[in-house]
Amino acid sequence: MLQTLHEFMDDVVERSAAQFEFHQAVRDVAESVWPLFDRYPEYLEEKIPHRMVQAERIIIFRVPWVDDTGTVQVNRGYRIEMSSAIGPYKGGLRFHPSVNLGILKFLAFEQVYKNALTTLPMGGGKGGADFDPKGRTDHEVMRFCQAFMSELFRHIGPHTDIPAGDIGVGAREIGYLFGQYKKLANQFDGILTGKGTAWGGSLIRPESTGYGTVYFTEEMLRAQGDTIHGKTVLISGSGNVAQFAVENVNRLGGTAVTLSDSDGFIHDPGGIDAEKLDWVMNLKNVRRGRISEYAEHFGVGYYAGQKPWGVEGAQVALPCATQNELDVEEAKHLVANGIRVVAEGANMPTYPDASRLLIDSGVLFGPGKAANAGGVAVSGLEMAQNAAFTTWSREEVDAKLLGIMTAIHRSCRETAEEFGVPNNYVVGANIAAFRKVAGAMMDQGVV
Ligand code: NDP
Repeated sequence: MLQTLHEFMDDVVERSAAQFEFHQAVRDVAESVWPLFDRYPEYLEEKIPHRMVQAERIIIFRVPWVDDTGTVQVNRGYRIEMSSAIGPYKGGLRFHPSVNLGILKFLAFEQVYKNALTTLPMGGGKGGADFDPKGRTDHEVMRFCQAFMSELFRHIGPHTDIPAGDIGVGAREIGYLFGQYKKLANQFDGILTGKGTAWGGSLIRPESTGYGTVYFTEEMLRAQGDTIHGKTVLISGSGNVAQFAVENVNRLGGTAVTLSDSDGFIHDPGGIDAEKLDWVMNLKNVRRGRISEYAEHFGVGYYAGQKPWGVEGAQVALPCATQNELDVEEAKHLVANGIRVVAEGANMPTYPDASRLLIDSGVLFGPGKAANAGGVAVSGLEMAQNAAFTTWSREEVDAKLLGIMTAIHRSCRETAEEFGVPNNYVVGANIAAFRKVAGAMMDQGVV
């Protein structure tokens, strides 16, 4: 007898105790795809979902290093190689004190489906460490990155596993990680994406996740005969994704009015224009300060310990900070305030009951695995440029990114229609991605 969804989830929870974010990510996909098994029972007979929730390989390792005071520090490093069904493992590295096995398994699981949606041949992985770069000097960050790569380098390669950045891993960290890989392997390979443009990085890679989320939002609005032009946009976070989401909102004629960090949010009703955004980039990427300083500098409101979802007068909300940062009460505020679109720049920022409420209320909801896939898509384009020993112009990469986001939108939308739930981008994204990965697994046999 074939398993029910309920039995399947019970198994997942029992075999990955206390990995709550992982359970949440698996349940989201399983609920969408289970009805598919009436049409394709062979997926269940071949235990495709059961194989998908087991990582192909997990590497956990010690990262010892010495800080500026001469004190020995010990962190824990991880790489989750989740699925190589449609290509080499691909996904970012996160350095944040909250990092644990459950969070990285959720991110690696999401990455498999996201990468499948990009139309490029990339499997899924994720990694990182419980290291906090905040408050550390550049030399401390460098020594940590070198210690981390001293183990990771044995497990990655341009045809095996190609990590990138994520929270806490930006241009500085990618540089130090690449330098150590090159020294140990004695090879100049495209083993990381998000590299500096002088040494193999793709133009538009830093911009790609934020730009892509806004392109996806624009496509959702276009499908309803509307655009971002003239809309007011709430954005959370103030890191890589949030910064370039603001830039693309500005390019498309919208007005971004909020940004946040883990201490609170700023509300600038006049809009975060190009000049103010430059100031934020300097604050966050160079001085590594707090978003509260924006409020002091530009004389606008700062709300300590709060998130921007209660701000009135906006039509679009883009959560771009971290997982589970938009709960059901906040979703009710968004609906009451007339929000039209929520698109996830971050990975799984919306709690499941909150996304359900938004969808049931008629809000267009773009799940992260579709809406923020632009980052990994341009990583895929960086790999293509490295492999061909060439570089493409900004315009070429931006046009390809727009083409990919449009294709992802179309595939989610058409799949949702095929399964009788028009405008449900969650079901559309999950089924479209699952079918691609499952098909590849069926072709390749039980491995
Ligand atoms: P950054 O490290 O550049 O920025 C993260 C931002 O989120 C910061 O403003 C940070 O504030 C805030 N933040 C982090 N943790 C928390 C927390 N626990 N509570 C509240 N705020 C928090 O990361 P990215 O911009 O690269 O990533 C943001 C999100 O986008 C993540 O979910 C990531 O997985 C996802 N993503 C990123 C991609 C990329 O290409 N970079 C690709 C696809 C998805 P503070 O400084 O106070 O910590």
